[in-house]
Amino acid sequence: MRYLSTRGRPDDPRPGFSDILLEGLAPDGGLYLPETYPRADAGVLASWRILLGSGGYPALAHAILSEYIDDVPSDDLRAICERAYNDSVFATADIVPVSELDGGLWLAHLSDGPTAAFKDLAMQLLGQLFEYELARRGQELNILGATSGDTGSAAEYAMLGRHGVRVFMLTPAGRMTPFQQAQMFSLDDPAIVNVAVEGVFDDCQDLVKAVAGDLAFKQRYSLGAVNSINWARLVAQVVYYVAAWLRVSSTDDEVVDFCVPTGNFGNIMAGHVARMMGVPIGRLVLATNENNVLDEFFRTGVYRVRSAAETQATSSPSMDISKASNFERFVFDLLGRDADRVRELFAVQLPAQGFFDLSGTPEFAGLADRFGFVSGSSTHADRLASIAQVWQQDGVLIDPHTADGVQVARRFVRPGVPLVVTETALPVKFAETIVEAVGREPERPERFAGIEDLPRHVVDLPNDAAALKSLIAARVGH
Ligand SMILES: *Cc1c(COP(=O)(O)O)cnc(C)c1O
Repeated sequence: MRYLSTRGRPDDPRPGFSDILLEGLAPDGGLYLPETYPRADAGVLASWRILLGSGGYPALAHAILSEYIDDVPSDDLRAICERAYNDSVFATADIVPVSELDGGLWLAHLSDGPTAAFKDLAMQLLGQLFEYELARRGQELNILGATSGDTGSAAEYAMLGRHGVRVFMLTPAGRMTPFQQAQMFSLDDPAIVNVAVEGVFDDCQDLVKAVAGDLAFKQRYSLGAVNSINWARLVAQVVYYVAAWLRVSSTDDEVVDFCVPTGNFGNIMAGHVARMMGVPIGRLVLATNENNVLDEFFRTGVYRVRSAAETQATSSPSMDISKASNFERFVFDLLGRDADRVRELFAVQLPAQGFFDLSGTPEFAGLADRFGFVSGSSTHADRLASIAQVWQQDGVLIDPHTADGVQVARRFVRPGVPLVVTETALPVKFAETIVEAVGREPERPERFAGIEDLPRHVVDLPNDAAALKSLIAARVGH
């Protein structure tokens, strides 16, 4: 399998999986996608059902990833999947269990990993792949990132103990929930460096850009990233769509719909890939919160990014985005993989005018039929109502992001078609909103007992690139 860029030219080189693993964007500013989506026909789907039954989630992961990764020996890839997906890493050996709710809805539980958010499913695999590939190349990597919560902690727990990898993670001082702070700052390992920056999340991101933008420094200290646009993260997520479909369906042609709480379009893009492969996914229901950039596109055909000032701070904070970093991948497929048009939209129109408009095009007109997408958005009041309703009807507490999914999913239930909402986090991460919705504290899984009382490992830093550079130089030590 070779990979191409959404902004590529016909004669560009086409790298393999291991070459794009440690990279972010393609050199032309586009995003990598496989040349073609491998086709899962009826025989393949039947074999996956048997495999999940006999070898569990890691065996299914190995089979699906093998379609996209042909430059890692198969036995090594199998061992990587087994190390990433087992019951010492996840709370259940099922990795992604499903449960049924009232009214035709199901939940796919994606939050049983170390940091209680679905990002663990991709990050755990990435940690194993990084360690493997760095050892093979005799290289080291210092990951530099900024987080407002879920991504940074998932990255730290995935890279913890991985040889050759160090993490510098910037957080806005005092701005994450106490639980999120405790999750990150309780890690006691010299290779995990938590940095609390005097400032807001945007300041952290600007610092990362300033330091990683100094190419000499970047090279000298082998700086890298764990972006949400990394293809390895995306392909890891394809596996749980297949696992959830297998667990909810009883025959190999049974159609299942999915509803996905969406921010950067990473999670739902993996659902799109699974559907393109031929997994019988009917509809992909995209759910946003008040920051409805994507819902607006799927309803109107206009993609209009927001400014930082226009982006609201909501009670489903991991979906508070102003532009969706993975969306270009979908537009590439929507436009029949026409890289010239994608380049014109994302590299010319968007920077120049802040939006592009596909409303009059035949591609947009055929979008729902060809790709199954429909969408809706949710508000704080909707979110609280959904949390309360699922709690009262089903006795299940869902987190605010999952609640956005349930809220929008109810509008699109089709008789006789199961609709699976991807549960993106556990409620314990967002206790304040849960208390507001149902008047009680969410249950705290055993593994998170007392984490706020553990010693904190965090370096305070002024909002200053030179200070960050000296910190990195001191810790890397050359
Ligand atoms: C990251 C995140 C999302 C958004 O996922 P995307 O892949 O960015 O669409 C939703 N919910 C939670 C809890 C998250 O951490």
